[in-house]
Amino acid sequence: MEITFHGAAGCVTGFCAKVQTGSATVLIDCGMFQGSKTLKALNYGEFPFDVGNVDAVLLTHAHIDHSGLLPKLMRAGFSGPIYATAGTRDLCAVMLPDAGDIQEREVEHLNRRNQRRGRPPVEPIYTAKDADRCMALFERVKLGERVEVAPGVTAVYWEAGHILGSASIELRIETAEGPVTVLFSGDLGPGGRDYFPDPQGPTGVDHLVIESTYGDRQRMQVDPATRRRLLAAELRDAHEAGGPLLIPAFAVERSQELLADMLVLMDSGEVPACEIFLDSPLAIAATEVFQQRGWNPASGRNPFVDVREGGRLRFLEKPWDSDGLDRLSGWHVIVAASGMCEAGRVRKHLKRLLWRRDATVLLSGFQAAGTLGRLLVEGAERVKIQSEDVRVRARVRSLDVYSGHADATALTNWARARLPVAGQVFLVHGEPNALEGLSRRLAGAGFGSDQLRIPAIDSRFSLTKQSAKLTDRGGGRIAPEAAAATDWHNARAALQIALDEQLESAADDRARAHLVGRLREALALASPAATGRGGSMLQRLS
Ligand SMILES: [Zn+2]
Repeated sequence: MEITFHGAAGCVTGFCAKVQTGSATVLIDCGMFQGSKTLKALNYGEFPFDVGNVDAVLLTHAHIDHSGLLPKLMRAGFSGPIYATAGTRDLCAVMLPDAGDIQEREVEHLNRRNQRRGRPPVEPIYTAKDADRCMALFERVKLGERVEVAPGVTAVYWEAGHILGSASIELRIETAEGPVTVLFSGDLGPGGRDYFPDPQGPTGVDHLVIESTYGDRQRMQVDPATRRRLLAAELRDAHEAGGPLLIPAFAVERSQELLADMLVLMDSGEVPACEIFLDSPLAIAATEVFQQRGWNPASGRNPFVDVREGGRLRFLEKPWDSDGLDRLSGWHVIVAASGMCEAGRVRKHLKRLLWRRDATVLLSGFQAAGTLGRLLVEGAERVKIQSEDVRVRARVRSLDVYSGHADATALTNWARARLPVAGQVFLVHGEPNALEGLSRRLAGAGFGSDQLRIPAIDSRFSLTKQSAKLTDRGGGRIAPEAAAATDWHNARAALQIALDEQLESAADDRARAHLVGRLREALALASPAATGRGGSMLQRLS
């Protein structure tokens, strides 16, 4: 039996593991790559495996970096079942068509540019319609029940406490030497939340595949009351600054949690009340799923029943509703997707608000390397949004108490609770520091250092009950080190901004011409005057 890590190996997004036995092939997740353009380009390439051989997909949860390439898989010929919990299925029913819609619009925009540049048009990875069709492949799985997913392969889904419907998946594979079990953590929640249950899992598995998003980070352990107190402080500060508060938030889960908390705080008078705009059709649709399925068995209640349109809460479905916010002044709150500021309506609001000193931008979760959200958190003074250079004058704040992710201690505790683990522990879904950080922690928490592995993207291992042998190093699609880093697109954008800044701050036009001349020299470009061509071009332009 073999396992191949086709995504979120050496990086955080695009999780996809392929498990191949003598009689079956199953995928755990089929996620979309997000972050740098180098990574995102992988979404357009062919799958690095024979899609026709895949019997089934087992889906841990609905986040796009775990589910986002399912419609593409279907387009490539996959027609088998996709096993998921009811919550995951219902969220996918709104999230996947939305992802298709975003791609259609992005490609439309790109094709207009390509046309002007004389380049051939490109196709979207999939459309909203493809995503709708893909939903017919979903099969519901209940937590705790063993299901046969392919010949000789059964699975049990366990509560992962990460987002609504999220699960860890325990696979049991029949082999000649007896059954082999592999537990995939999926993304794990931190536990101790009032709105969502704690993660669970079996003990005594043969191999463990564990996420490492926060593998090197400790977060303040906050109880729900402290969480709301910290949010209240941010709301009061933003109110004092005098302008709007923009919260780029993941449309699913983060938005609903934030809204539920803000309603509590404003209704109780703890913070200055105002209108709250939920400006994301996806978040609005997801909120309906939370109203139906947000019931928490631990607390015996659904905390999202009050998060509905009406009162101070306004749902903005149509783009023109969203444009209307332009005319609004003073204290109000806008919650808009996406959480890492990479897509969605939030970019429009950032372009509109970042230069304003009275505005506040509150980032509320993990920001992957290479994303606009990460640049803002790191204190960028200028950013490029929709090819426009935008000055950052707004207060940029970060509140990391809403994470649906376990931190380093919670990950370690979860892994320890799975002991004994007879074979290997594969650390995935993390940036290099996080992967190494978690590996060190696990080595000090009852795992042998020879058990711990950090697989590279597309690397393959041959598994027996207790051992794993590397049979393919991967590296065919993308260099392992390129998976984690910011890429040359990020570097170019930073260089362009730095150049513009230097030119603007130069003493006079002579100094600017001198700087441009030196740059041309460094790039070994002929000076415009020497060839005559560039010179006449400049004349034509002026
Ligand atoms: Zn997730």
